[in-house]
Amino acid sequence: MAGTGAGGVVVRPFEYLIPDSVDEAIAMRLEHGDRSRFIAGGTELVVMMKAGKLEADYVIELSRLAPLRFIRPADGGLSIGPLSTHAELERSPLVQGPSTMALAEASASIREPQVKNLGTIGGNIAFAVPSADTAPPLLTFDALLTLRGPQGERTIPISEFFVAPYRTALGPAEMLVEIRLPDMGPHFGSAFCKVGRHRNLGLTIVSVAASVKLEAGVIARARVAMGVAAPTPRRVVEAEALLLGERPAPAAFREAGRLVAHAAAPRARSIRGSPEYKREVLPALTVRALGLAVARAQNHTERDEG
Ligand SMILES: Cc1cc2nc3c(=O)[nH]c(=O)nc-3n(C[C@H](O)[C@H](O)[C@H](O)COP(=O)(O)OP(=O)(O)OC[C@H]3O[C@@H](n4cnc5c(N)ncnc54)[C@H](O)[C@@H]3O)c2cc1C
Repeated sequence: MAGTGAGGVVVRPFEYLIPDSVDEAIAMRLEHGDRSRFIAGGTELVVMMKAGKLEADYVIELSRLAPLRFIRPADGGLSIGPLSTHAELERSPLVQGPSTMALAEASASIREPQVKNLGTIGGNIAFAVPSADTAPPLLTFDALLTLRGPQGERTIPISEFFVAPYRTALGPAEMLVEIRLPDMGPHFGSAFCKVGRHRNLGLTIVSVAASVKLEAGVIARARVAMGVAAPTPRRVVEAEALLLGERPAPAAFREAGRLVAHAAAPRARSIRGSPEYKREVLPALTVRALGLAVARAQNHTERDEG
């Protein structure tokens, strides 16, 4: 297969492989190594191949593998298959509960309808760009990722997944097969807030996700994560520590926002926004995300989950 990409660039011919099972897909990747790539929705991969920034001799189709497409309750939390699209996550009653609303909001924030319908959560995080919108919410849930490879399965916390831009903990021929969101119990709420461009496909300039667990009116667990503000999506543990044991109040949220801006290490030459601009808006985004997360936690009982 070959084609002409943006600016008349000819995409180098490649072979399109259609496995019947997850294990066959992994075997194909093992056989062809670095010369092959999985493709899910293709909204990252195809763009990169057309731009001549990425080449592959073999493209291994995942989107027909039904066992990778699910959103279901699991042990009080949620289990999400990597082929779940942003449109499915945005609309799922299971994801729209107060606990996991940040994830629904992150998927909903993607503006292009085609990208929402084709783009998957697996491709979003496996590509490991700093702007992956679902990454900050997943970091605030302490999500667990199951990776399957030729030697079997292993599960790692998402905090260990992002190694560098475009680099993850996925080993050779490993595939992301499940994203698990643990049970956080009642009075847990989350939110995702971002600033995006009005033009240029609505690219994310910077984002913040927050999740909060309340016990007796006090913050018993807090997570704050930022996107497009550092080489990889990452938590800001300084802000989380500050919030722990506090009663939710604007002054504490503002101080957390200050710590988030301080922890940011944005790229100097980004098409998305200057480091100065990002540091300027991060405190306000943090205050907003924390305020929403706390409001959801305050109104959240077990019955609220979808
Ligand atoms: C116009 C446009 C607008 C966009 N806007 C946004 C936005 O607002 N926010 C945002 O976050 N993203 C955005 N994106 C980026 C992209 O659409 C998303 O990241 C999407 O979720 C990628 O998923 P995919 O299934 O299309 O990935 P693919 O392109 O199929 O794959 C991406 C990478 O992940 C690997 N991969 C895929 N699935 C797996 C798996 N299960 N295991 C291991 N590796 C895997 C592939 O090999 C490939 O290297 C945009 C893209 C475009 C073109």
